[in-house]
Amino acid sequence: MADKPAPNPAAAKPNDGPGPDFVRAVIKEDIATNKHGGRVATRFPPEPNGYLHMGHAKSICLNFGAALEHNGTCNLRFDDTNPVKESTEYVQSIQEDVRWLGFDWQGRLYYASDYFPKLFDFAVELIQKGLAYVDDLSADEIREHRGTLTGPGKNSPYRDRSVEENLNLFMRMRDGEFPDGSRVLRAKIDMAHPNLVMRDPTLYRIRKVRHHRTGDTWCIYPLYDFTHCLSDALEGITHSICTLEFENNRALYDWVLDNVSAPCHPRQYEFARLNLNYTVLSKRKLITLVQEGHVRGWDDPRMPTIKGLRRRGYTPESIRFFCERIGVARRDSTVDMALLEFCVREDLNARVPRVFGVLNPVKVVIENYPEGQTETITAPLHPEDASFGARPVPFSRELYIEREDFMEDPPKKFYRLAPGREVRLRYAYFITCAGVVKDPATGEITEIRCVYDPATKGGDAPDGRKVKATLHWVSASHAVPVEARLYGPLFTVPDPGEGGDFRAHLNPKSLEIPPGAVVEPWLADQPAESGWQFERLGYFCVDKDSAPGRPVFNRTVALKDEWARIQKAGG
Ligand code: ATP
Ligand code: MG
Repeated sequence: MADKPAPNPAAAKPNDGPGPDFVRAVIKEDIATNKHGGRVATRFPPEPNGYLHMGHAKSICLNFGAALEHNGTCNLRFDDTNPVKESTEYVQSIQEDVRWLGFDWQGRLYYASDYFPKLFDFAVELIQKGLAYVDDLSADEIREHRGTLTGPGKNSPYRDRSVEENLNLFMRMRDGEFPDGSRVLRAKIDMAHPNLVMRDPTLYRIRKVRHHRTGDTWCIYPLYDFTHCLSDALEGITHSICTLEFENNRALYDWVLDNVSAPCHPRQYEFARLNLNYTVLSKRKLITLVQEGHVRGWDDPRMPTIKGLRRRGYTPESIRFFCERIGVARRDSTVDMALLEFCVREDLNARVPRVFGVLNPVKVVIENYPEGQTETITAPLHPEDASFGARPVPFSRELYIEREDFMEDPPKKFYRLAPGREVRLRYAYFITCAGVVKDPATGEITEIRCVYDPATKGGDAPDGRKVKATLHWVSASHAVPVEARLYGPLFTVPDPGEGGDFRAHLNPKSLEIPPGAVVEPWLADQPAESGWQFERLGYFCVDKDSAPGRPVFNRTVALKDEWARIQKAGG
């Protein structure tokens, strides 16, 4: 904790302007050359099999942002082709999160499952052109036939079925005649193709599973590579932006669109996924954390999900600011959590009121202040911005200050309260320490005895004398007890996903709740999600677990960057 409140300790952190963005450069160029008639149409295509995380935020800001900047459109499309893992709970939460981030699909909400009839027709078209066939090989056999990066694959013995036979079998697949896994529809491309994705990829498989939207209408489901490009084409997408792992799939994207009567041919561009250190950004791992109870749910403030960050006190603006800062590149990299925290500090600094809370209190008794007297101090809610107004803060004979703001035997550089020393209580008075009371059994300080100077009301001495420290405080009899949830990183290592079991690196101290924390009465019943700066302690927000008169606060972020210390301690 700083002795003097630093105005904005984060301001010296990374500040090199917005990152470069090659996708936006491509779009600009296409508009200049009138490539799609000057039109920009993008989409954000989540699979509804989990909650959105910061990686998705990057994709959302890019797809919606780039469209918005050019009067274009961005569709929200659920890529719901795998009924086994998908649910309407996820569909709901994804819509909430996109809206909360500040983006609007303006009624263009689509589902890949809406296209199932059209996709089926496109598959039939491929069969009729001799470009797709029904294969009876098992999944394992198909894998064995695929070949390797260095060696060609082998043709399936079913590859040369006639168009009629393929059509007949495909219809019967659709009609539910065959069990799961017994047959698939494959594109007929080239089993020796240097790009493994192009070695007769599977287009449809049998899955006798109820779909959360289409119910039991279908028992065959199209695969991603077939669905995605055609969904893009059906929606008139111009720039299909996805992450780098789909680079090899671009050839198949183009092949499908070149070989069916698609209404248009969007172009696919791949950018680097967001990786953040000290956390995981993979829905599979995040689901594990929730299901195994390592966190308290998808919206646990330690989770890198949009819901988690929101509950932690992040604003949409801070997340958009972060996405702008990291840029959009073609090379994978890992971004420091420190940058995310820098962005939220920057945003909250201008946005939230300042108040007093004491996390680890010790009592101060002001011996020369009348017993039973209370005075009300009017304290500004933002020292640099009068538009925030002020709030009443009660002052009385017994107060709480932060235990670490006092030292009985201070070292040279400790300027806060100590025996015989005078400090300022912010907005109140100068006080001087006259002694301490200790618990005879433990030796712990239970009370700090002080005297105040009534002439310093408001926090300044008329004789111009200075003090070296200003402390925050809360009147003891007016203090509101709170649960203050302080968060550390969810993992103890920067790359918890790297080899081995990521759960082995969970941080046992990722949530700490100091006993006895209190806040000033102004904070007793503030609305959930409202954000505050507890002076000298950090940014906090009211949690939805709050009860009347018994608030729960999440610390969004400390005032100062703690990552240097964390990295040193962790490894
Ligand atoms: P996960 O690996 O977490 O399961 P996913 O890619 O399977 O993610 P989707 O729901 O398919 O999740 O993603 C929707 C969109 O968000 C896709 O365009 C995907 O490329 C993008 N996306 C997902 N994760 C990231 C990330 N870490 N960085 C940037 N974009 C991402
Ligand atoms: Mg995916």
